[in-house]
Amino acid sequence: MIEALKSLVKRTGVERRHVEAARMFAERHALAAAPRRRGRERGRILCYHAVGQPEFGVNDVAPARFRRHIELALAMGYRFVAPAEIARAGGERMDLAISFDDALKTVLTEADPILRAHDIPYSVFAVSEWSDQGQDWQKEKVLSWDELGAMIASGGVEVGSHSATHRNFGHIEEARARTEFAQSIETMHARLGYKPEVFAIPFGQSMNWSATADRCAREAGFTTIYAQAEETRPANTIPRTFVTSFDDDRIFKALLAGAYDRWEEWTWTY
Ligand SMILES: [Zn+2]
Repeated sequence: MIEALKSLVKRTGVERRHVEAARMFAERHALAAAPRRRGRERGRILCYHAVGQPEFGVNDVAPARFRRHIELALAMGYRFVAPAEIARAGGERMDLAISFDDALKTVLTEADPILRAHDIPYSVFAVSEWSDQGQDWQKEKVLSWDELGAMIASGGVEVGSHSATHRNFGHIEEARARTEFAQSIETMHARLGYKPEVFAIPFGQSMNWSATADRCAREAGFTTIYAQAEETRPANTIPRTFVTSFDDDRIFKALLAGAYDRWEEWTWTY
């Protein structure tokens, strides 16, 4: 499958991200049919990105589909809790939590009304330089500190750190890692009034984190570090389940049943 796709790229010049999306689509469908192990007793934290910003590709879940995920989970008997509750104590088997990486605009404009209608708390992980909005694309696509501050003030929303510039922490020099954590904490302290203690790993794959990054993060004051797949995540991190644009009812149900607990979204870092 992968070799055929590679040669297709050479012949036609199809962009790599489209090939990668095709691979993900195929894998996600195949895994949805695979038998699952039983016995999970913990809650599950879902990780979304955009909700109606198609330029984010596989990381964008359309608003109608996002609403469907929430309604489906509620109909199946899941109880939504804050991510911190699952991070702290593990939660119950039917506990679910919602988080968003990158602090993108549609979290506020599309997801927030749906979540608020059901009284569902959630966490957002902001890249401090992006929410500073120094560039035009950031003004257009990313939530500002004022917007994030207002979301916190209206209740049920936690904002954590997603680093200063969304670096890959899998291969990073110690000094650079320390700067990333310090700048992010300093900016959030200045703009939101507190020092964040929760951190979501940029890109989120196990290969995007290292022992050095982990040590520096904890020395900087982070106590909770969110990663990805339950069974492949780095030691001492909290698992999350990534949700993609492909996730229709069948895939979403499989995801809730643990079909992707050994699966990571990307095989490479963009
Ligand atoms: Zn991110």
